[in-house]
Amino acid sequence: MNLKDFVADVPDFPQPGITFRDISPLMADGTAYGEATQQIVNYAKDKEVDMIVGPEARGFIVGCPVAFELGIGFAPCRKKGKLPRETIEVSYGLEYGSDALQLHKDSIKPGQKVLVCDDLLATGGTIAATIELVEKLGGEVVGTAFFIELKDLKGRDKIKGYDIFTLMEY
Ligand code: IMP
Repeated sequence: MNLKDFVADVPDFPQPGITFRDISPLMADGTAYGEATQQIVNYAKDKEVDMIVGPEARGFIVGCPVAFELGIGFAPCRKKGKLPRETIEVSYGLEYGSDALQLHKDSIKPGQKVLVCDDLLATGGTIAATIELVEKLGGEVVGTAFFIELKDLKGRDKIKGYDIFTLMEY
């Protein structure tokens, strides 16, 4: 099965000149979604992962089924103001301005091994901020996993030293 057959390439979204890689056809196909999930599960299997963390919103789509398959928990990383209890926060740069991501303070226990999941690695800003949050809570990031990597944007350079697993490259 070629998973790229289930990614829609949307020209000029959300701005002219950008090609958006849309994973919703992959999610809509049970076999393709299952295959993508299983590949990440296989990657994670020998890492003794305790928790999965994923940034909103598509990090949930990738991370939750992996957590379920591994029989472990999932902690949501959210934009500022969305999590209801005590949080920690990291600001990160966007193309224009900045934003902040948060994790509940009790979502990771010190020493826990964490796999961070998102749908797509672009510049790496989102995943670097998510990793920083996990480490602030004392978690150990044992890997990162994505459905898609946009090679030209060099997100890898922002998370040097971390293990990276991707299913599709563009
Ligand atoms: P980064 O922080 O620049 O690495 O951007 C990655 C984040 O932006 C991820 O959370 C993605 O969900 C989102 N993103 C950026 N480009 C795309 C795209 O082409 N398709 C889907 N999501 C994207």
